[in-house]
Amino acid sequence: MKTIIEPFKIKSVEPLYFTTEEERIEALQEADYNVFLLPSQKVIIDLLTDSGTSAMSSRQWAGIMMGDESYAGSPSFFRFEKTVQDIMGLPIVIPTHQGRGAEKILFTVLSQDKKTYISNTLFDTTRANIEFSGAVGLDFPCEEAKNPGIPAPFKGNMDVVKLEKHLAGPEVKDVALVILTVTNNSGGGQPVSMENIRQTSEICKKYQVPFFLDACRFAENAWFIKQRENGYRDIPVKDIVREMFSYANGCLMSAKKDAFANIGGFLAMRDTDLAVRCRNLLVITEGFPTYGGLAGRDLEAIAIGLEEILDEHYLAYRMRSITYLSDKLVAAGVPVMLPPGGHAVYLDAKRFAEHIPVDQYPGISVVCALYIKGGIRAVEIGSLMFGKYDAGGQLIPAVHELVRLAIPRRVYTQSHIDYIAEVIIEVFNERKKMTGYKIIEEALLLRHFTAKLQPMD
Ligand SMILES: *Cc1c(COP(=O)(O)O)cnc(C)c1O
Repeated sequence: MKTIIEPFKIKSVEPLYFTTEEERIEALQEADYNVFLLPSQKVIIDLLTDSGTSAMSSRQWAGIMMGDESYAGSPSFFRFEKTVQDIMGLPIVIPTHQGRGAEKILFTVLSQDKKTYISNTLFDTTRANIEFSGAVGLDFPCEEAKNPGIPAPFKGNMDVVKLEKHLAGPEVKDVALVILTVTNNSGGGQPVSMENIRQTSEICKKYQVPFFLDACRFAENAWFIKQRENGYRDIPVKDIVREMFSYANGCLMSAKKDAFANIGGFLAMRDTDLAVRCRNLLVITEGFPTYGGLAGRDLEAIAIGLEEILDEHYLAYRMRSITYLSDKLVAAGVPVMLPPGGHAVYLDAKRFAEHIPVDQYPGISVVCALYIKGGIRAVEIGSLMFGKYDAGGQLIPAVHELVRLAIPRRVYTQSHIDYIAEVIIEVFNERKKMTGYKIIEEALLLRHFTAKLQPMD
């Protein structure tokens, strides 16, 4: 059969909360035009993130009941540990309450000695944790990543020439870690090829710099390798995953993504000395090494989720539903990042709202318009999230102005996706009516979460 269907049936449902356009205009004003500040019951379709929003399976819910809540040595921990070891091949597993808990610990430890981190593109909390530890993060995305409109199979790749040039110089002394984000979240959910992982690993070995994967979407990345990279078509996803991790010294993971869990994360690694230093910090921040900020039931849900994500029927459906939305938008002339990534469709707000200058946050204009039109909550990944100021207080814009429509795993059906496409296309056809925004209040770190904005007159 040509039709790819949802590889599940639905046992338990939640209502959607419907609102009128007038109610949404008022709600957005009360939220100071920042959709992070909206009550979720004022949202019809929530595409803010795919993080922690997955629908858990009946097996995971059964695991929740099986969770053992012993403070130390819980069987749920050993099951979780063994699952991570089996899937990723990394021997040491340290649970944390979510991905950023793992980031905070790893970077606090590593930044004591060295203060530069290099990545294909660091995710926002990853960058913030690096900077908070007193270090700097450098992004070396590949050339193809720079043009959202032009498709290429592995736009998440690291620019390995640039990486080698940097590591061959005197600066190598200060490099704490090289991190490949798979898939590259801030770069559009684009995959990294096995070849690029291997090359990055070889360069890191040559210059004796540790190499980690930020592995939040490792299974989606493995699926892309299977579909797009020579020689992998007939290899099971689980073997592709094993090979990906075989090149790394360790990983950071948010279980809120490709583990179908609502909370959780972990660090995994090979280096026992580093693990000792991480665990020392773990016990004073997250918790004892066999629960690390999680309940036993969470560890069960993560372990089961990690097994389920490797189901190739699931991965085929997952990619198909993202491509389906992207194809509809492309057919209507809406500028999207091509090809679509693994967990989201990204609108190119620079081309969507051509008349709005970057210092008036065109991505925010699109996000607000989608909410008002159809109650859809998306997120800006542009100059509100990544912009900086120069010494004179002028905005240094981000490279791209994107709007991310993240698709929660196993949550929405095809008719929800049809509705999303209809709303976006209507907003696009009326785009000339959109205005820019200005910031009226902002925090020092991760300002997009709390900033207050106002439409320009
Ligand atoms: C979500 C995410 C993180 C942070 O994980 P949390 O569980 O949200 O703290 C880090 N890196 C990437 C690539 C992510 O997508």
